Amino acid sequence: MQGALNEQIKEELGSAYLYLSMATYFYSEGFHGMAHWMRKQALEEQNHAMKMFDHIVERDGHVELEALSEPKREWDSPLVAFEAAYAHEQFITGRIDELVKLAAEEADQQASTMLQWFVEEQVEEEENTSKVVKMIEGTGPSGSDLGIIDEQLGKRK
Ligand code: MG
Repeated sequence: MQGALNEQIKEELGSAYLYLSMATYFYSEGFHGMAHWMRKQALEEQNHAMKMFDHIVERDGHVELEALSEPKREWDSPLVAFEAAYAHEQFITGRIDELVKLAAEEADQQASTMLQWFVEEQVEEEENTSKVVKMIEGTGPSGSDLGIIDEQLGKRK
């Protein structure tokens, strides 16, 4: 279980790295609201990693940080970037589901309880990213609505 959780710490930090990379892409394209949204998302991912980090430490385990791979830097459009973020969260949900199965197999009640938080969180994460995809898909070909969406996303707390 500990090995699988260590692996997931890397995935959560990798998510943070990916979303920071998306933030830099949005800055370079002039979408500062979207960049802000992605920075907030990257912070959430760091918190996810720390929840697992703390779980291992509290149980007197050993955290082993692994190398992160270089994130993608460019996307064809804001829509493509948010579609990639949504697909990434679906991938993470699959990984959390695998961890839940493993915890049950090993009858690790503490890990099972800790992971339930992630099960619920992933519903939210998928919803948050797919909502933005749908918002952008609703924009006209002029692209003017992208400015309005950018402003809205810039208000994320
Ligand atoms: Mg996460």
